[in-house]
Amino acid sequence: MPDKILFGEYRIEKPLGKGAFGTVFLATHLGLNVPRAIKIVLRNGSGRTGDEFAELEKRFELEARLGAQLDHPNIIRVYDYKPGKDLLALIMEYAPGGSLQDLLDHSRREKEQIPVDKVTQVACAVAAGLEAIHDLDAVHRDLKPSNILFDALGHAKVADLGLAQASGGASHRSTLGSLAPKHPGTPEYMSPEQELTSSYLTPASDVYSFGVVLFELLTGHNYKLKQPGTHAAALRPDTPTWLDELVAAMLAKAPEDRPWDGAAVLKLLKAGITKASYEEERAQQQAARVKSLTAQALNALEHSKPGRAQQLLEVMDRIAPDGKAAADALRARAREMKITLPVISSAAPATRPRTANLPRRLPWVALALLLLALLAGGIWGFGI
Ligand code: ATP
Ligand code: MG
Repeated sequence: MPDKILFGEYRIEKPLGKGAFGTVFLATHLGLNVPRAIKIVLRNGSGRTGDEFAELEKRFELEARLGAQLDHPNIIRVYDYKPGKDLLALIMEYAPGGSLQDLLDHSRREKEQIPVDKVTQVACAVAAGLEAIHDLDAVHRDLKPSNILFDALGHAKVADLGLAQASGGASHRSTLGSLAPKHPGTPEYMSPEQELTSSYLTPASDVYSFGVVLFELLTGHNYKLKQPGTHAAALRPDTPTWLDELVAAMLAKAPEDRPWDGAAVLKLLKAGITKASYEEERAQQQAARVKSLTAQALNALEHSKPGRAQQLLEVMDRIAPDGKAAADALRARAREMKITLPVISSAAPATRPRTANLPRRLPWVALALLLLALLAGGIWGFGI
């Protein structure tokens, strides 16, 4: 394809890399004489069916639509989407500094660790990019080293919004219930809820993937292949304590136990880097979270929703340092209001796979079947 002129506007220079769905080329915009990166998907490429092509068309459209709303220094700009007869083309900003995956590959080859300062610098840029995405009420869903690129100045930028969960998906997914499709993404970097459930994802899902990326930058290993709960500092002893704690918090199994979104992670990074006080920032965020959960739980009690209240109280129990005390105060309030709180599992509601309720329901299902069988037997016996 090199030297080919596309849409009469772009000269294709050379391939930059190949992904699961298409190839990214370096191109020159002939009118402006500036470089662009163009992701191209061929209609008949690798035995692709019409349905798969239609699906990719939707992804490109979404990426172009979100891209048009995101003019941010830490996000790869999307300039245009061109659906052609035989191919789809997404015109993007060209990032000449390679990807974070390239940096990881290089550090593995050379057996050199990535300096902690470089890790925190990349982390701040990615957190700022995520903040902009989360501000649009979207969730990236495919944050990974090959989707973090470097510009000419070495600034990291988040790329590839084609798999994003766009705003408004909550009601859509809850309407579909168990028919909602599974989340797309890359299993090595997916959050537990993205991998196991098809319910609406919160920004905390990207925070988990971001935690996996940071763990890998620090240690060279993928967190998901390690024992759950493994700390980066156990594999990389010069990891600062605050950064080790932040990465561990980002990798919490339950989304409610993680810093909530890109903005929260960015604040914690800044507090840790300036040594102002990571602990103080974390405590402030936790206090704000306890306050918001308290209001939600109280609202649930006042509207006679003890199940919902109990779920929220269990989340509060896990928030140090004041969550448990606030939850206990609400339990006392529930007793005053003569509301009995149900006993539910300590697993976080948002991460529990749909099927997790099944064992609790099994005795009831069995009882219902038995009654049906007895009834049928009775009817049979009476010869009706
Ligand atoms: P997947 O298909 O699973 O998302 P991927 O991210 O590697 O994997 P692509 O998004 O198609 O796949 O990108 C392929 C490669 O092209 C990337 O790894 C990156 O090195 C390069 N690339 C992508 N976008 C750009 C860009 N805007 N500027 C420079 N290089 C890019
Ligand atoms: Mg990509």
